[in-house]
Amino acid sequence: MRPEVLNPLFVEVDALDGVGPKVKRPLDKLGLKRVRDVVYHLPERFVTRRAVENLDEADVGEHVVVALTPTEHKSPYGRGPYRVFAQDSIGNICTLTYFGRASYTAKKLLPVGEKRWVAGKIDQYDQMLQIVHPDHVVEASDDTLTRLYEPVYALSEGLTQPRITALVEQALERLPELPEWIEPAQFEAQKWPAWRDALRLVHKSEHEAARERLAYDELLANSLALMLVRADNRKRKGKPLRGDGSLRDKLQLPYSLTGAQARSVSEIEGDLAQETPMLRLLQGDVGAGKTVVALKAMLIAVEARAQAALLAPTEILARQHYETLRTMAGPTGAQVALLTGRDKGKARESILMGLLDGSIDIVVGTHAIFQDSVSYKELALVVIDEQHRFGVAQRLMLANKGKSTPHTLAMTATPIPRTLTLAQYGEMDVSRLDEMPPGRQPIDTRVVAQERLADVADGVARHIAGGQQAYWVCPMVRENETEDIAAAEARYASLKERFGDDVVLVHGQLKPELKDAAMERFASGHAKLLIATTVIEVGVDVPAATLMVIEQAERFGLAQLHQLRGRVGRGSEKSVCLLLRGNALSETGRERLALMRETQDGFRLAEEDLRLRGGGELLGTRQSGDTPFKVASLEQITRLLPKAHADARVLMERDGGLTGSRGEAARMLLYLFERDWGVQMLRGG
Ligand code: ADP
Ligand code: MG
Repeated sequence: MRPEVLNPLFVEVDALDGVGPKVKRPLDKLGLKRVRDVVYHLPERFVTRRAVENLDEADVGEHVVVALTPTEHKSPYGRGPYRVFAQDSIGNICTLTYFGRASYTAKKLLPVGEKRWVAGKIDQYDQMLQIVHPDHVVEASDDTLTRLYEPVYALSEGLTQPRITALVEQALERLPELPEWIEPAQFEAQKWPAWRDALRLVHKSEHEAARERLAYDELLANSLALMLVRADNRKRKGKPLRGDGSLRDKLQLPYSLTGAQARSVSEIEGDLAQETPMLRLLQGDVGAGKTVVALKAMLIAVEARAQAALLAPTEILARQHYETLRTMAGPTGAQVALLTGRDKGKARESILMGLLDGSIDIVVGTHAIFQDSVSYKELALVVIDEQHRFGVAQRLMLANKGKSTPHTLAMTATPIPRTLTLAQYGEMDVSRLDEMPPGRQPIDTRVVAQERLADVADGVARHIAGGQQAYWVCPMVRENETEDIAAAEARYASLKERFGDDVVLVHGQLKPELKDAAMERFASGHAKLLIATTVIEVGVDVPAATLMVIEQAERFGLAQLHQLRGRVGRGSEKSVCLLLRGNALSETGRERLALMRETQDGFRLAEEDLRLRGGGELLGTRQSGDTPFKVASLEQITRLLPKAHADARVLMERDGGLTGSRGEAARMLLYLFERDWGVQMLRGG
């Protein structure tokens, strides 16, 4: 049970004054569901503004407060932004630009002919000064104007900076005082503020020690929880699986395994023979050949008279895996079935029967394979594809399906630097496929200036005319998903004019059915060009897609670019990746894109990415989403994780897990970061 003192933090955001359904929705989109989430919604950066008399005094790129009088409102043609033209005191014109439904705000705040004070960042667009989504628009008397230094938070549609700032302030009022969980010597030496002070400080200014402490908390919670999982796993019993090779011998692979594949299979074989359930991660770049390794592992289970399940994150991936595995396993006689949420009625019944009576040996599916209504005769191995889509908690849920705890093999194509592997998968053993199957065609990667967009579109047209398919990834416009989507929709609209029904669009806010349908049309070859924000399904295999265009490539992390590029180069045809770059390319940006041209080694790129981002990472850098952390930055992870890990170990060993007063405090920490599955492990064991 959650310690009572934390309860005020875990009430829903409704508890804050002024939060009704209208604000709740945008908060929800940001993942801010409870008061706890609001206090941990840390500023992306702080802005220092200058009050200027007129636009002549302002530089492009600068944050200013300036008096402007709206002269005209312009609704968008099609899907473009909403623009308000405004004039400063000496007649300079500037546009105030609003994407999406924010136009509603614009209409209300900026009546034509009435002077307003506008705070925001001056950009230039088409020779014209503009401010995109001003931070504040107020009448002259308003005191927000005196705040020339303030936090900037990530927003979603329907929220404004002043609004979220006020909510954070309210939430901070409710912070309880908590006992210290950081090791006393560590705490003293670092001169860190206490937890509650730290949270209040980080919302006020760029307080490094406070930010540091909060990051450390998160890392400590994670390490501790992973250690508890590991300790729990040691106590569990699985079924030792010793295969006699009879089925594996019947496989008729058209190739021999690479050294890395053979090594991974034997590591897995060793684990499976043990009574302690396997907890292993198979890490291998896209195309490294994880599927055949998984198949061999599953055949070992079948040889040992047990069943295996393969869990995929999406319907489409489940289908693809099913087709591949069924074909490959054909000669062995092992029975492979597919089970997804879409299977209904008789077909579903017969699969459920087969799983129960053991006539199905291997089942492939989405999370539907672990619903309560599904029972197995003897499930002994679970393979999870694209592990990062599933939390540890889900993995533990699976653990309760069999009579004994099944062995787990998780697979991921995300190349993670060694330092991060510890953070992400600390509780797992790791096998790495660090060698590609022979004969891969390298992907021809080129860097192209954004101005040549028209040429690029011509290139795409030729490509499609030649019968092949292409991906087009749209830029991340600002630190705001809504605007990314607006940009993708605009690009989609313009490319659709040219390519008609050959084009489909996929982004994160599409309903799953629509997204699946669009992906399906592309995967089946009916659509030729797939436009996407960065959410292109991990692992989707469309061999005829041999061209990838990535706009504003400099804004992506190397690891992410590599992942995106991995969508092509999967067939026998030569593939091309065009990285479109903007004009304002930094030294690091140049270096990164050059590296992309130079190498296709995912692990090398991941390491370099960390190195290049490491030093100069700013407060405002968008979290890349490749770590399980919300507070700690990459740089902080690299630097602080070893300490946190050691501290967690001491706590586990010297202080006997979570007993004693420090243990009590640590328990609190686990709940605070919702790593309480760690606590549950402790209790269950
Ligand atoms: P991953 O899941 O790691 O992205 P796959 O398992 O889908 O990669 O394998 C990619 C392709 O490589 C498949 O077409 C597969 O048949 C092929 N392949 C796998 N292992 C080898 C190998 N040792 N030699 C040659 N081709 C291989
Ligand atoms: Mg795969």
